Amino acid sequence: MLKIGSHVSMSGDDMFLGSVKEAISYNANSFMIYTGAPQNTRRRPIDELKIKEAHELMEEHGLSLDNVVVHAPYIINLGNPDPEKRAFAVNFLTDEVKRTHAMGIKQMVLHPGNATGGNREEAINWIAEGLNEIINNTKGIDVKIALETMAGKGTEVGRTFEEIRQLIDLVQDKDRMGVCFDTCHTSDANYPIKDDFEGVLDEFDKVVGLEWITVMHINDSKNEQGAAKDRHENFGFGHLGFDTLINVIYNPRLKDIPKILETPYVEGKPPYKHEIEMIRNKEFNPDLKEIIANS
Ligand SMILES: [Zn+2]
Repeated sequence: MLKIGSHVSMSGDDMFLGSVKEAISYNANSFMIYTGAPQNTRRRPIDELKIKEAHELMEEHGLSLDNVVVHAPYIINLGNPDPEKRAFAVNFLTDEVKRTHAMGIKQMVLHPGNATGGNREEAINWIAEGLNEIINNTKGIDVKIALETMAGKGTEVGRTFEEIRQLIDLVQDKDRMGVCFDTCHTSDANYPIKDDFEGVLDEFDKVVGLEWITVMHINDSKNEQGAAKDRHENFGFGHLGFDTLINVIYNPRLKDIPKILETPYVEGKPPYKHEIEMIRNKEFNPDLKEIIANS
């Protein structure tokens, strides 16, 4: 079964219930939540998240929690050279794993971090150390941490499959790990997603192993392969294009993996209902942006 959805917000009084409502309005059967604003670490207490109501609505609509993921805020950096900042990141992510678990969700996507200190090897070791601490702090909790493949903007760690492999190797409890494969990021990191996606999957399988992929981010890219810019484009409107992305979504090697759109809003409006419809129909609509803008 195709598992397709987008990132949705969790805010206002409805919180998790609101996220489910938003996903349903897009005709999604999968979705991704930031538990608050992605650019800060202020979070509401677990008992205010409307978890029970969210689960009830999901059940009514036949949605499974297996196809829902949390995305940790992207300002968190386990590779920060400042030990106090790393300790803050570990504490925050420990709570984020607990929040994810309280919501009945089984994986949390994480940008591995940045080598802001300038030394990538050192940063990778700090990140792995942080991951081990978070996993130890949440022993027995059935939540995986899915490391995201990154575009390589600035000093981002996770630009190559080798770095993802290295991080997994350094984590003791590997059952708690997964990978989030992002189509825009990997293209930006110079993998030929458009020209040879099967070859890229072979390469990933050789270096990391396809079985580690637990979720995918499906985004087109505003830039050419290797640009390292990380600017997402609407589905089919970027350098990857419609056929490439449809082939990724329906690729038999990636069949059961939840696929999440993080494409940009069009004139302040979410594109997801329209993009999901286009994906289900497998037919490109070149007027999509106008339709969204005028909706
Ligand atoms: Zn991400």
